[in-house]
Amino acid sequence: MADQVCLVCGKSFAKEKEMKWMHEGKWLAFDDLGCRNKFIGNPKKYLEEAAT
Ligand SMILES: [Zn+2]
Repeated sequence: MADQVCLVCGKSFAKEKEMKWMHEGKWLAFDDLGCRNKFIGNPKKYLEEAAT
């Protein structure tokens, strides 16, 4: 199975270790709390980078 990739740091991680966060009705997954908190602090930045 493919690992997921953290939107914030770009590392891949196993699904059972994910930290989930609901953002605008969608569940996003991060590899740790630090990355999740960074995303929460500036979600637009990370979403725009992921879209390009
Ligand atoms: Zn990360």
